[in-house]
Amino acid sequence: MAVRGWRRTLAPAQRRTRFHPAPAEPAPREEILVALRIVVGLVITVVAFAIAGRRLRWLQRLAMAGQPAPERARALREHPGRGAETQLTEVLGQRKLLRWSVPGAAHALTFWGFIVLLLTIIEAYGDLFSKTFAIPGIGHWAWVGFGEDLFAVAVLAGIATFAVIRLRSDPKREGRRSRFAGSHTGAAWLVLLMIFLVIATLLLYRGAQINTGDFPYPRGAFASQIVGHWLHPLGRGVNSVIETAGLLAQLAVVLGFGVFVTYSKHLHIALAPLNVLFSRRPDGLRALQPMRSGGKLLDFEEADPDTDIFGRGKIEDFTWKGMLDMATCTECGRCQSQCPAWATGKPLSPKMLILDLRDHALAKAPYLLADSAELRDQLPESVKKEAERPLVGDSASHGVIDPDVLWSCTNCGACVQECPVDIEHIDHITDMRRHQVLIESAFPPEAASMLKNLENKGNPWGMGEMQRLEWTSGLGFDVPVVDGPIGDDVEYLFWVGCAGALEDRARKTTRAIAELLHTAGVSFAILGPAETCTGDPARRMGNEFVFSMLAQQNIETLNEAGVRKIVASCPHCFNAIANEYPQLGGNYEVMHHTQLLARLVADGRLTPVTPVEEKITYHDPCFLGRHNKVFTAPREIMEQVPGVRAQEMHRCKERGFCCGAGGARMWMEERIGKRINTERIDEALGTDPDTISTGCPYCMVMLGDAISAKKSSGEAKESLEVVDVAQLLVRSVRPGPAPAASAGAAGRDDPADPGAG
Ligand code: SF4
Ligand code: SF4
Repeated sequence: MAVRGWRRTLAPAQRRTRFHPAPAEPAPREEILVALRIVVGLVITVVAFAIAGRRLRWLQRLAMAGQPAPERARALREHPGRGAETQLTEVLGQRKLLRWSVPGAAHALTFWGFIVLLLTIIEAYGDLFSKTFAIPGIGHWAWVGFGEDLFAVAVLAGIATFAVIRLRSDPKREGRRSRFAGSHTGAAWLVLLMIFLVIATLLLYRGAQINTGDFPYPRGAFASQIVGHWLHPLGRGVNSVIETAGLLAQLAVVLGFGVFVTYSKHLHIALAPLNVLFSRRPDGLRALQPMRSGGKLLDFEEADPDTDIFGRGKIEDFTWKGMLDMATCTECGRCQSQCPAWATGKPLSPKMLILDLRDHALAKAPYLLADSAELRDQLPESVKKEAERPLVGDSASHGVIDPDVLWSCTNCGACVQECPVDIEHIDHITDMRRHQVLIESAFPPEAASMLKNLENKGNPWGMGEMQRLEWTSGLGFDVPVVDGPIGDDVEYLFWVGCAGALEDRARKTTRAIAELLHTAGVSFAILGPAETCTGDPARRMGNEFVFSMLAQQNIETLNEAGVRKIVASCPHCFNAIANEYPQLGGNYEVMHHTQLLARLVADGRLTPVTPVEEKITYHDPCFLGRHNKVFTAPREIMEQVPGVRAQEMHRCKERGFCCGAGGARMWMEERIGKRINTERIDEALGTDPDTISTGCPYCMVMLGDAISAKKSSGEAKESLEVVDVAQLLVRSVRPGPAPAASAGAAGRDDPADPGAG
């Protein structure tokens, strides 16, 4: 107590001299050192700011060479709270990064460390001019010194963790399995070294300061004190030199790091907050964005292919936000590690797609930024060649993005979900597809018949509109078909969808849903022949024209009928109607059937009674789960079915793995790598299930096909099948004792089973 009291009575300067008496007048050598640090410190600062500023200005001009995106600023103006929230949660709170516990924690330590260490940079600049500088007000508080040292050590722990992660996931050894495959790993190691040097020089000069009596913190700065203890035997004179050298080295490393950042992937340090601020909310999933040209919505009736921009055919067709996305990529590879296309050996990596676009933008920049044709003519041949590269083209045409890359995407959303800096991969892929489809007419030929059928028949299979009613026959009750304004007695419009109405396996789900709604006493009606495809496959494929045509037709039908509440059985229809139709004036309250059924079970309007003694693993459809965050409703239904033993696959919920059908991939051949549905079924088989359940007709088809192949090769048991959660529920809701051989197995072949179609 006596010692603490003594310290409190000392003025800050006295505290320092009490431990390390300093001469009253600086020695001549020290005056030279002080002058030297001022001159060198200011010179390197001016040079670094000049280089970094010039580079940032150049990058800004490059971004502005892209198209305007007024909707981004407008969204921010209209919802300022959202911008503040994302800065707090995603940037300061590191929300997305912390989803990956170890690397997330390492990044958070490094990030927060650098924020706290901003104080030490202020101190370093103050020390340039006064060796006894302390931040006014707080510069002698022990807890400030402790906090600075604590976060300096935290940053060291963070970069040590990064080093271990990089060594363990070395792309040279791990190949495609490494999330760093394709990243600039050399630059990453250089950055780790620079961060280490920032901390090392900081502790070095602080330790020397303790021995010269210039250190502002009497207590708390534990790491600096340890280093000071090591340096103490060198004597005051050497410590004084080390203090000056360490201070200048610290500033040089910090400034060098700052300059390097503007030329490297670590540009994200500066750009990530900006990119997050202007990103789509709540995320880059759910709806695709309408086509815009020059910042204005594209009107197909008035658009001119010669003057308007249709999708992205050149790098400068991307908006400044697209350019910002490219510049912000940290090359962390989280997106790549979750991409089903990459995981199954296809050439698409969302990370490398962004990096290829970025590299092209940087290489073409002198051409884009040249103010006149004359200046362009004077550019080096390499720049002119880069400017001539097609944005999408095969290796023969030196395309920036290979068509196989572009068309491999299933729109599953895993990349967008994982990206810590909110890059919007799906939007960019779709925009490039739009140009290919609408201007170049270049797309996988097998998808052509799907587009033609949509245009001519309103469904991908080209079936007659009256066939949309076939599933209703033999149900045992009437399903009302909307004919004119929907009555007040009809609560829901049951949106059946093309697959639900026309595809044999999906029809079983449709019938199960209809029976469950009927059993629960829910009044519903269908559009029947008046329903057409929502346009989702056309839009995801890039044919915005066909999408608008179908969507407008459906919206007209729904609005004329006065529909307000819709229950959809297909997550793609659900997503399109709920999230994309509002762009065209169609606003409805939309639910997926699992949400409605879960509510009916919870309300006691549906009571599962018959046990289904099966081990079941649930597959999350991407457009239900990741895109629309419906994870619990299907699981709640399964929980209520007696006898069901649910077993999650390793990749589930937000990390669910695609079936391979989204992004219009359902209508394209899968010629490269392992089939995505086979990969998913292999994972499902790892849980040794009796049944695989899901909530999407596309998933049913894809997983069903994979199961059939597995049965043929003897890798799956004959009784294994994929069912919709609604089929599972209808088996259990139907009263009566369960057959001994398992209700599910018997029910599947029961011709009286509505879910059996
Ligand atoms: S949406 Fe899915 S398939 Fe497409 S790039 Fe992203 S992760 Fe890969
Ligand atoms: S796009 Fe996002 S997730 Fe992918 S590497 Fe870049 S920063 Fe990481």
